[in-house]
Amino acid sequence: MALSKDILLHTHIYQPPRTVSHHLFKDIHTDPEHRDWTAIIDRECYQPLAEKGIFELISFDINGVLLAELERLNSPSLKKLTQNSRDNMVGTSYIHPILPDLSDSEKRIVIGAGLKRFQKDHHGHKPSVFWPPETAMDTKTAAILTEFDYKAFMCAPWQIKLPDGRPADNIPVRLNLPNGKSIIAIPFDRSYSAGLGFHDKSNAYTFVDHLVTPSFNDVPGQQLIGATDGETFGHHWKFGDHFLESLLKHALPSRGFRPIHSGQVDITDLPEAQLVERSAWSCHCGDLKRWSNHCACTGPDNSWKSNYYHTFKQLTAGIEKIARQELGGNYVNSMINHFETGFQNPGPSRSTPKESVLSAYVMALVGRTSCATFFDNPHTSGLINLLFGLVAIQHLKDAGLNRPGAKLEAEYMANLNRVTDPKHHQKTAKHMLENMLHQRHFSQLAPATLGLAR
Ligand SMILES: [Zn+2]
Repeated sequence: MALSKDILLHTHIYQPPRTVSHHLFKDIHTDPEHRDWTAIIDRECYQPLAEKGIFELISFDINGVLLAELERLNSPSLKKLTQNSRDNMVGTSYIHPILPDLSDSEKRIVIGAGLKRFQKDHHGHKPSVFWPPETAMDTKTAAILTEFDYKAFMCAPWQIKLPDGRPADNIPVRLNLPNGKSIIAIPFDRSYSAGLGFHDKSNAYTFVDHLVTPSFNDVPGQQLIGATDGETFGHHWKFGDHFLESLLKHALPSRGFRPIHSGQVDITDLPEAQLVERSAWSCHCGDLKRWSNHCACTGPDNSWKSNYYHTFKQLTAGIEKIARQELGGNYVNSMINHFETGFQNPGPSRSTPKESVLSAYVMALVGRTSCATFFDNPHTSGLINLLFGLVAIQHLKDAGLNRPGAKLEAEYMANLNRVTDPKHHQKTAKHMLENMLHQRHFSQLAPATLGLAR
């Protein structure tokens, strides 16, 4: 009997949150052109894919924050994404930070909150496979995944070293962890995944013959594993939704391929291998430099990134200390259990002081969203973090913690003033935040409330 030719197509479905729920800041657009990109991408990509039944044929991850945004938009995609997706959806963190850059309790909070959201949508079922944001990974994060019963995570081939030193291209491996447990890494196939992202998508049959079949013939075993951004299909590539439908329903089956989900990846007799510490799929420079330092991935001037990164790291550390005091020793579990309501907290009239403290910490963690430092300047995605950082401090003040709130705010502003704007060297990230706040009617009430008038 001929073995089936299994093919996994994983899509990372992700958009950052671009507005906040706090009533004082609700009208602020973090997009410079005031466009609601989540609504646009939902129309161009998620909805057409959902209508075509694509989410039942692929593997995908979608985090809690995007699900909450789709709820806000009352999107028809939401139901199709979360229904019948128990096996197709893999777990991920509730938000999109670089996990190795977080403290251990922060890792637990965002991974735990993501799991809680998954279980809410799937009758308590736990996913076995995890998608790390940017596939960024280190041993500590892998060990914490096992605390939440994850059995495997997906990653890029160059993040895993086989015993002979080669990257694990399309080869699932077992990683032994210092906590005595082990976890499976599922590296995708390099050429097939690159093709999903960038190869011509005008004809699904040509795509299979020119790209999928040669990639499949190149790999050991009978499974080809691919991963790319979900927004490729319909947003980045016009008509990519039609391509995907033709690929999955017609072209692949006609050539003997069977689409599988991540739980069907063969994990018997895996070789043991080593994780490349602090690695990710979109930076090859080592030590996750793209998100906090200089690296060759984004333009010649990345001098702003280090100060920007440390501003938000310091803010979260400050708020974590307060949360630990105010929420008690079990604050990590409180954060996991109430992360979603904390994210949606509209402010004082509907919030107890404890809830406001919890929201402050949630907002600070959202301020660690990785997109800000992904690009060569912080002018689009970086504005999101600037706003969430400020709202975090506002929630502390709402909780009646005026002195620590004012202290953190002064520190936050001073740190932002040290982040040189790479587009206008005489300006700083503090100016960027002020410009964003002076939008529309907000300018009348904001400066005094926020101590920005100075
Ligand atoms: Zn890099």
